[in-house]
Amino acid sequence: MSDAPLVAGVELGGTKCVCLLAAGPNDIRGEIRVPTRGPTETLAAIDAVLKQWHAEHGFRALGLASFGPLDLDPGSSSFGCIVATPKRGWERVALLPRAGAFSVPVAVDTDVNGAALAEGLWGGARGLDSWAYVTVGTGIGVGVIVRGAPLRGLGHPEAGHLRVPRLAGETWPGNCPFHGDCAEGLASGPAIQARAGVPFSGLAADHPVWNEVVHALAGLFHNLILTVVPQRILVGGGVVLGQPTLLPRIRRALQASLADYGHVPRSALNEDYLCAPALGERAGPLGAIALAHRALE
Ligand code: ZN
Repeated sequence: MSDAPLVAGVELGGTKCVCLLAAGPNDIRGEIRVPTRGPTETLAAIDAVLKQWHAEHGFRALGLASFGPLDLDPGSSSFGCIVATPKRGWERVALLPRAGAFSVPVAVDTDVNGAALAEGLWGGARGLDSWAYVTVGTGIGVGVIVRGAPLRGLGHPEAGHLRVPRLAGETWPGNCPFHGDCAEGLASGPAIQARAGVPFSGLAADHPVWNEVVHALAGLFHNLILTVVPQRILVGGGVVLGQPTLLPRIRRALQASLADYGHVPRSALNEDYLCAPALGERAGPLGAIALAHRALE
């Protein structure tokens, strides 16, 4: 048990939603998974979990960490809504109105910003000022924290859709429905599967499809390092965590790509700079708890 307040968090993901009742990573009092189906059915199931927890335990704040893109402009009429998404049925779905019934502070942000904040509180970004959390799985998500807060402009970054140079001779068009061969269209799990014809989890480490995955991700990190200059990049998600040879290969490609230019010299691009999240696959669900803690600040 910890002295931290008891809060609730929901990570809304592409295939499942994870509801947590917790004070922190070592004090989890409840965890319920809800399969992601249509928005009405899914949000009603989450609502029922939260209602029960609220009645029985009285959580102090609620954090929602969701797949996006999300409208995070508090002045917008669609604040807290999912905006243009390839996920059928979820476009313009509001996440916040259902949360207001609990009369507690609510914070909503992207799943990757939540995971990045969780790594800052309890994981591999403790003590840092600016860092990035990248997940390479069903899609590619990038959470960027600058001076302790998620980076915001007109909206949140969608750096997984950055365009990256192609490996010489490669012409596969990519599978992003918006951009074709953006980073996500080349290196996400579904992109790898579309290209290789089998799920990424079954691919040998020397399968040729990894060459462009490594190239695309090194290109993504090259751009990220030169724009937001993070002190560390934490890379999670099923694709990277499931293929242990990838991170070392990406580090080498990144060293060659950056070529000692900028603030991160070749020697610093090591396993302490580009590394797996310390919270592993728990970074996502704990991100919703981290957001709830921020709502109390
Ligand atoms: Zn794209």
